[in-house]
Amino acid sequence: MKKEPQNWYAYYKVKKPSLINRKRLVTTFLEMININSPSFHEGLMGDYLEAKLRSLGCRVLRQKYDASFNIIATKKGNRKNILPLILSGHMDTIEPTEGLRYSVKDNIIRSTGDTVLGADDKSAIAQIIEAVTVVGEHCIPHGDVEIVFTSAEERGLHGAKNLDYRKIQGKHALVLDSGGRVGKLVTAAPSHISYELHVMGRPAHAGIEPEKGINAIRVAAEIIGAVPDGRIDAETTANIGMVSGGTATNVVPKEIMLRGEVRSHSATALKRITSDIFGHARDVARRRNARVRITEEKEYRAFRIRQNDLFLNFMNDTFLKCGIRPEHVISGGGSDANIFNAKGIRSINISTGMQKVHSTDEFIGMEDLVRGCRVVLAAIENFSEFSAQTGTREKKRSQRDSLCSYPFQRCLRSGSCDRSRGRVCWRS
Ligand SMILES: [Zn+2]
Repeated sequence: MKKEPQNWYAYYKVKKPSLINRKRLVTTFLEMININSPSFHEGLMGDYLEAKLRSLGCRVLRQKYDASFNIIATKKGNRKNILPLILSGHMDTIEPTEGLRYSVKDNIIRSTGDTVLGADDKSAIAQIIEAVTVVGEHCIPHGDVEIVFTSAEERGLHGAKNLDYRKIQGKHALVLDSGGRVGKLVTAAPSHISYELHVMGRPAHAGIEPEKGINAIRVAAEIIGAVPDGRIDAETTANIGMVSGGTATNVVPKEIMLRGEVRSHSATALKRITSDIFGHARDVARRRNARVRITEEKEYRAFRIRQNDLFLNFMNDTFLKCGIRPEHVISGGGSDANIFNAKGIRSINISTGMQKVHSTDEFIGMEDLVRGCRVVLAAIENFSEFSAQTGTREKKRSQRDSLCSYPFQRCLRSGSCDRSRGRVCWRS
């Protein structure tokens, strides 16, 4: 991998002036943040995007699922033998967004404080739309670009979980859903388990016969005090985030519900901490003559992209070509990239330049909006190089495989080839 950021920077600065229309990009972004689209209510946003993508010559599909829908669009390539590249963002925003007000000052677009801005993740969508517009406008050579806009990401990656993967050909995705400066690439994200823990005590009149009751709130409090919490180690976190229950001050509470989560990059640690929490809860309940009922849900699986991964190296190069230093980040949060990776699509989550997301102080600089868009455009433009590289590798592999003379050298059990080991290879 050639690392010549300064040379590339000079190349882009001097020989290749930006084709991005900054005004159009900002306008698209502002149009979108004015559309209210909380999770599961992405209808208007979907209409806007469908029309926009059709006007750019894309084939657009609104893929419905029980709770909402995803938008899958394809910008057909004008060159052959280039792998499809998937670009993805999510249409929904965290709340509050109703009656959104924003200000534009010193080239920074920020919420005025009562709502979020919605740059998470409309900055991503604006960057993708502008990049695809430029590609069409300037007849830039490219392969198929598959655009996937998911829904209800903020409420548990519902869109990605319900996406119809048969409608997508690509095996490499850029998910634009990370905050901070442009240049950040999330190369690892944890697995996530959420759980509900119902503590059942016994109700009684608190004034007349409290001794007959078992106070579920007190048992729950003891459980909360006993279980591992916060940062467990560098790879693992745990949190109890919601408590609900109780009916009146004069009733010894019968039932309390605790909701929590565990995240870890390590499958072993995830299992150990989860069973620790549930074990402690059962022990405390037994000691206090109460009962617990636990339900758990696997939200998503961890992923880790290796440092020598071809797609990661391609993205490093792409950033350098744009004069931006790539920075690999190990995230503690999940995104659609977790689901895509679990489905066999190599996915990297990159930053759009949005800042202070999930807060009413959310903002994004116009320069960052443009820089993020430049990266997307460069990725589309240069994906032919990546395709050629990958193609050569696969060609070499198939040539090597074809050297086998069945049945002596091809493994009978796995069907794959290992010329040094004869009939049954180590891979099986
Ligand atoms: Zn997001």
